[in-house]
Amino acid sequence: MGRKKFEEINGEYDVIVAGGGLGGLTAANILAKNGHRVLLAEQHFQLGGLATYFKRKNHIFDVALHGFPVGMKKTLRKYWSQEMADRITQVRSIRFDNPQFSLETTFTKEDFTGILINKFGVERETIVAFYNELEGMNFYDNGKMTNRGLFEKYFPGRNDVVRLLMEPITYANGSNLDELAITYGIVFSNFMSKGVFTFLGGTDLMIDMMEKELEKNGADFCTKAKVEKVSLENGKVSGVNINGRKIKCRSVLSNGNILSTIHEWIGDNHFSREFIEKAKAVRLNNSSCQVYIGLKPGEKFDFIGDLLFTSTCPVFDPEKLLAKDVTSRTFSVYYPDIRPGSDDYTIVASMNARYEDWAELGKKEYMEAKDKLIKDTVVALDKYIPGIQDKIDYTEAATPKTFQRYTLHGLGSSFGTKFEGLEVSMKLPEQIPGIFHAGSVGIIMSGWLGAANYGVIVSNKIDKYLHNL
Ligand SMILES: Cc1cc2nc3c(=O)[nH]c(=O)nc-3n(C[C@H](O)[C@H](O)[C@H](O)COP(=O)(O)OP(=O)(O)OC[C@H]3O[C@@H](n4cnc5c(N)ncnc54)[C@H](O)[C@@H]3O)c2cc1C
Repeated sequence: MGRKKFEEINGEYDVIVAGGGLGGLTAANILAKNGHRVLLAEQHFQLGGLATYFKRKNHIFDVALHGFPVGMKKTLRKYWSQEMADRITQVRSIRFDNPQFSLETTFTKEDFTGILINKFGVERETIVAFYNELEGMNFYDNGKMTNRGLFEKYFPGRNDVVRLLMEPITYANGSNLDELAITYGIVFSNFMSKGVFTFLGGTDLMIDMMEKELEKNGADFCTKAKVEKVSLENGKVSGVNINGRKIKCRSVLSNGNILSTIHEWIGDNHFSREFIEKAKAVRLNNSSCQVYIGLKPGEKFDFIGDLLFTSTCPVFDPEKLLAKDVTSRTFSVYYPDIRPGSDDYTIVASMNARYEDWAELGKKEYMEAKDKLIKDTVVALDKYIPGIQDKIDYTEAATPKTFQRYTLHGLGSSFGTKFEGLEVSMKLPEQIPGIFHAGSVGIIMSGWLGAANYGVIVSNKIDKYLHNL
């Protein structure tokens, strides 16, 4: 049990979880706890998926630990361990700095209400009505209102207010003003309940702790194990091909991209025509670029906030947030206390990005574009940490191609699919008994909390399926 080399995995399992992102990991842990024989197969050499980290020159860089809602504490306590839940701590300070406003917030409902009244001159009744509408939103309502419509209803003509309310969410899940308001309402309300939280000890510690829990609960897991094909017998799942070897199983949970699951792992001919039409209409979400900065040993800087949403763009424009000529960056600042005992300062700048802007570049152009991304980021950071250039020990950049390479998500998608992907993901088992999907889809189910909670929901369905067999 626990981590296995590919040659050591058994020939048969009850469930094979394909992909070790937070959705797959959480589902595998629950199913193993429930007594099922579980194999988690991850194609990369490390578990975590996009919730990952990497080490360079004595620095540890967190790729996606910038912040999540408090709900992660409950999810870790119920489905992982109390010890992990105890490591969820609140992010102290979130700053915005753009041509429309500069402010600091705890990112809670009370704080936002105060800011909207005192800084933006919005009436309290309007804010209360806005929050009430968000809280009343229900996934099962068939609402057609878009974010644009929602903001026009409460804050007409107030691009500055929209920027405060929407820009962080655009960074968090790639959504824009044309998305259904329900996706914004759920995600924004989750954050507004108590603010933004992080994992004390860093992503590396969290993934280590998850590996230990999986082992304790009896799951097998294997990295460098790529699921290539799902086999069917009499219309039901009977096994998967991993690295060219067939492993029998009674069900499969795909944590990979929903579109690859359908079109590549299974094949369109196994689904109804109507379902395939719906699957073909699913749009992938956008991708990201990141710049990672590590300071020389002994170098430090004063506290400048944990999360800085910065922009030089005169107004909020979600399309501009995706542009290769970057104007907007989120700086996540990791002080040594994120990993108690360490004295390392790292900074991760995140930008939303389009795959097509990077995919077509030749090798030389690509390297030059990455270099420019790093240089421009350091210049932008100098405004907040004067003299930063002289303190830097190491820099690296990731582009949409990097995200695609490490996770196999089409177009390097950072946040799964747009809203329509959720229905296709949920209806997968109605098409082929035994095949399930849990992972970033539909905007609502993305992010650490969304992906992990989707893993919980789907593991319950698999549990029922296996009992009924
Ligand atoms: C730059 C960036 C910053 C982010 N910041 C935050 C943040 O601050 N807060 C937050 O809440 N969320 C953040 N997110 C989003 C969050 O990390 C993801 O939504 C979440 O981790 C996705 O989990 P998942 O379960 O969908 O799986 P994924 O992370 O997508 O993992 C899927 C896994 O499946 C594996 N896989 C794919 N195909 C195969 C195959 N054929 N065989 C075997 N394995 C396969 C992949 O290698 C991968 O490990 C960020 C994302 C990015 C890109």
